[in-house]
Amino acid sequence: MNKSIGIIGAGIAGLHLALYLQKHGIEATVITDRDPEDVASGRLMNTVAHHSVTIARENALGVNHWDDPDLIYHHHDHFFNMPDGPLLFRGAFKKPSRAVDYRLYLPALMRDFTDRGGRIEYRTIQENDVAGIVSRFDLLVVSTGKGPLGRLFQHRPEHTPYSQPQRLLCVGLWDGVDHGAPGQADPRGVTLSVSPGHGEMIVIPTLTHDGMKTALLMENVPGGDMADLVSLNHDADPAAFRQTILDKLEKHHTHTYNRIDTHRFGVAGQQDVLQGAVVPTVRQSSASFDDDKCVIALGDVHSVVDPMMGQGANIASYAAFVLGQAIVESTVFDARFCEVVDQRREDRVLAASRWTNLMLQPPSEAMGRLIFSMSQNRELCDEFTENFNHPERTWDNLASEKRIHAWIDSHMAQQAA
Ligand SMILES: Cc1cc2nc3c(=O)[nH]c(=O)nc-3n(C[C@H](O)[C@H](O)[C@H](O)COP(=O)(O)OP(=O)(O)OC[C@H]3O[C@@H](n4cnc5c(N)ncnc54)[C@H](O)[C@@H]3O)c2cc1C
Repeated sequence: MNKSIGIIGAGIAGLHLALYLQKHGIEATVITDRDPEDVASGRLMNTVAHHSVTIARENALGVNHWDDPDLIYHHHDHFFNMPDGPLLFRGAFKKPSRAVDYRLYLPALMRDFTDRGGRIEYRTIQENDVAGIVSRFDLLVVSTGKGPLGRLFQHRPEHTPYSQPQRLLCVGLWDGVDHGAPGQADPRGVTLSVSPGHGEMIVIPTLTHDGMKTALLMENVPGGDMADLVSLNHDADPAAFRQTILDKLEKHHTHTYNRIDTHRFGVAGQQDVLQGAVVPTVRQSSASFDDDKCVIALGDVHSVVDPMMGQGANIASYAAFVLGQAIVESTVFDARFCEVVDQRREDRVLAASRWTNLMLQPPSEAMGRLIFSMSQNRELCDEFTENFNHPERTWDNLASEKRIHAWIDSHMAQQAA
């Protein structure tokens, strides 16, 4: 049977699905509002790290253009700026992760898709265009990110306790931060830095148009000492912006501050600052249209998570593969099809959301014990790190206080033995 699939949106969700279907001989049409040149020359969109499960999917699609040992990183360093002295400990991945600026990544995948014969239509879709597009295809997928088309899918408040952002973001690509390098005594890694009560900062070595830079993803607590960075205007006074960031890092994120070469420290390029906030949101997996047709939500349209735990793009890619596989297997794309897809991807998608939401709260007594135990037990911390690939396993370990204590106890017993 010839199947024709429409995909609105060319982020990682839409592109990984389109490339998966193309690989399996299924006709997919992508409809999106920005062409590769627009994306490449635009403002920083995010600072995404792909974990090894996502890199494996890129290999399967034949789109891993960044398979270079110079780009990858192997571990997370955790730094807690505690009043009675800093806590610093490391957890390692079994296989490395990697961050490539999406202004390089997405255009490359769009070109891969069209070079292999795929069709991309460039236009902006409004909500009232959707019914007409549904009738063109056997199945329509909406993967337009955080924008207004998400309203097609009902909000599920039972899965998202928040109606407000929990962090105010100040994100940038910077020169002058040492993040280690292959062959150095301290190899390349990501730092997860915490200033209790004020927020977190994720420090990510990232490949950009201009080579390796350092992404500083500051996740600042509303009302905390760093909250105002969300509206500090870089373009109005770059020198004042830089100095304010330096002062805040010295006070709250000293582990990273100590790795800055102040002579070279500065925003990498004009378009390399992103400020704003994310409201964590889970929506229904699909919406019904006439003739028993349904439209499927994919990626951020389905579930938006705060970027703190680096899950949104990784689960979008996972969900794209689950959906792609279901499309390959099916001949009927009705409500039952949507239900099956929902069940297959829900555990990981919801686990990523629940885990991230938990981490946005001040630590409970059990989470406090976990942090301290990870600083004392390398295997425990390695498992926590590796499970960035498998958020459902993390949620198995963290879903209740009882589970957290049981997980720590099992590692402590092994260590004692
Ligand atoms: C600062 C930051 C850091 C992050 N770090 C990580 C990380 O380390 N790891 C991780 O996994 N995730 C991370 N994320 C989350 C990640 O960026 C998103 O989850 C992911 O990019 C979502 O992909 P998507 O394809 O669903 O949506 P998007 O990437 O938003 O793509 C949407 C597509 O739809 C198009 N579009 C939008 N509206 C329309 C319309 N009306 N008509 C036609 N086309 C339209 C857009 O142009 C785009 O092509 C981070 C996010 C932020 C903000």
